[in-house]
Amino acid sequence: MMNFSYTRATTVGDAIQAVAGDPQARFIAGGTNLVDLMKYDVERPGRLVDITRLPLKAIEQTADGGLKIGALVPNSDLAYDARIERDYPLLASAILAGASAQLRNAATTGGNLLQRTRCYYFYDAGVPCNKREPGSGCPAKTGVNRIHAILGASDACIATHPSDMCVALAALGATVHVEGPDGARVIAFEDFHRLPGDTPEKDNTLAHGEMVTAVELPAPRFGQNHTYLKLRDRLSYAFALVSVAAAIELDGDVVSEARIALGGVAHKPWRVPEAEALLKGKLPSSGAFEEAADRLLKGAVGHGENDFKIELARRAVVRALSQAAAGTPQVQSNKIVN
Ligand SMILES: Cc1cc2nc3c(=O)[nH]c(=O)nc-3n(C[C@H](O)[C@H](O)[C@H](O)COP(=O)(O)OP(=O)(O)OC[C@H]3O[C@@H](n4cnc5c(N)ncnc54)[C@H](O)[C@@H]3O)c2cc1C
Ligand code: SF4
Repeated sequence: MMNFSYTRATTVGDAIQAVAGDPQARFIAGGTNLVDLMKYDVERPGRLVDITRLPLKAIEQTADGGLKIGALVPNSDLAYDARIERDYPLLASAILAGASAQLRNAATTGGNLLQRTRCYYFYDAGVPCNKREPGSGCPAKTGVNRIHAILGASDACIATHPSDMCVALAALGATVHVEGPDGARVIAFEDFHRLPGDTPEKDNTLAHGEMVTAVELPAPRFGQNHTYLKLRDRLSYAFALVSVAAAIELDGDVVSEARIALGGVAHKPWRVPEAEALLKGKLPSSGAFEEAADRLLKGAVGHGENDFKIELARRAVVRALSQAAAGTPQVQSNKIVN
């Protein structure tokens, strides 16, 4: 039996104060990840601060033509928002590639960013895991690692970040608004999640007590030439082995801008600006896409069971860029219109 107290916050300030002042306290939003982690005895918060009643549920236009998405906007509402469907279809598609309709109704924008790895060992409190218990070891390195990282991993941890939504947000150049005991700040998406290094227990760059209040999208781009391609063991309701968010802008026949982010391959969505730059000024072609894929995957290392992911990711990047260039985005198999 695990004892914990439960508080429902009525203001952002109260919620931050309650969590910041207690190292054992956690925010809870949709609860679709945190409650599972508590049931598996992975997380043992002494106090839950429920943030679901806070006024962070709006999607608002920004002065520069972008959108500011409140941290408590449910994943479903975001994917089916008319402005997101029209102006940011890559994001809508990535969200609909994840989880199930029921989960997406409960899961929130902030919670999606902060969901934890699906490494099997992390979820099994009976075995060592450096992310769960620093210094205890990483059985995944020589164990069952089909779903694990091929890029940016460390000796301490080879886990991946499991989100689909975050891969699209990385490609679109989103920013994350946070508030904490020391005030508010805005974090570029590539700086929000981190690589494991020798502190794999830290998934991101938030301090304890800092709350995600919103995610901001820049003014719309890539509305025509984009795709979110997710490859997984089951056609729906499964996390990505490899996913690709690809977006291209064309000036006449040539690529003027490209974005490529990979999911399922690293501790954070994986972007390499040099790989994207290789496409600029080129005609869309398999040769150019293969060159970009090779640069994106430079340094990729398998750990046995996941060796196949390197070639899978390379082919997925080429296919995603081809889909994006042709303006024929992947249709998500589990898209349910509600
Ligand atoms: C069976 C299953 C399948 C799934 N499949 C997929 C999938 O294919 N793709 C995918 O992307 N996701 C998938 N998910 C994950 C799902 O998207 C996440 O569980 C969900 O997005 C988490 O949001 P939440 O609001 O429920 O977070 P919670 O569970 O409430 O919280 C998660 C973490 O975030 C923290 N937190 C929450 N909100 C904030 C905030 N505003 N500021 C600071 N900290 C905060 C909490 O303290 C906690 O540590 C799946 C989940 C399940 C259970
Ligand atoms: S990969 Fe990371 S999360 Fe998985 S067992 Fe190793 S340390 Fe733990």
